[in-house]
Amino acid sequence: MSDDAGAPGHAGQQLPLEVPERIIELSRPGVIWLGGEAVTLEYSGGEKAVARLTGDFDESATFQNVVAAGFGSVPAPFPRPTVGTLTVGGRNQKEVRGAIDRWYRREARNRIGRCLEVESERLDLHASKVTIRDQKTRWGSCSTSGTLSFNWRLVIGPHHALRYVVIHELIHIRHHNHSKAFWADLTAALPDWRESAKWLRANEGRLTRYKPRLK
Ligand SMILES: [Zn+2]
Repeated sequence: MSDDAGAPGHAGQQLPLEVPERIIELSRPGVIWLGGEAVTLEYSGGEKAVARLTGDFDESATFQNVVAAGFGSVPAPFPRPTVGTLTVGGRNQKEVRGAIDRWYRREARNRIGRCLEVESERLDLHASKVTIRDQKTRWGSCSTSGTLSFNWRLVIGPHHALRYVVIHELIHIRHHNHSKAFWADLTAALPDWRESAKWLRANEGRLTRYKPRLK
């Protein structure tokens, strides 16, 4: 993937993750992945092709989880599903897949939108427009008019990777290039960015090929 946000081409790529990431088994059947966590798939038996996320969301687990992953300074804005379930209906496999796909995009719009809100405020950088896409070749982009686009697949992986791409694209509102000034501002905004960029590079092939395995 010739991914903008994930291809810094900079020194420091060899920096090891201090804490190993939880393994994301994208091929595990009967689950979908959200924020790097497995969410159980359940079939409602209903004819309506809709998907709905339910479950116990442990608010306290959010912060601990983020600390454990080595990104302790900023808690993830989303609680971690401890026993999350995605209940999905549809008359056949195609409809079920369609419902999951639409749900993922809604979830991406919510999660990326909320992260963007927080980071825009913090960095005082504001997008003119935001779009969520299924880009095969990049995680995010920033147009000269300040439109930010993000790949919905960012919500599959851990929050720190999503947040890195959001911050990377926000910094492009100020610098429409990968100049020294760009990397300096990015590092000031997110000192740990290399670890997230590394995670994205290591997992981008799996994430872009990802198709939920139905039971
Ligand atoms: Zn970039």
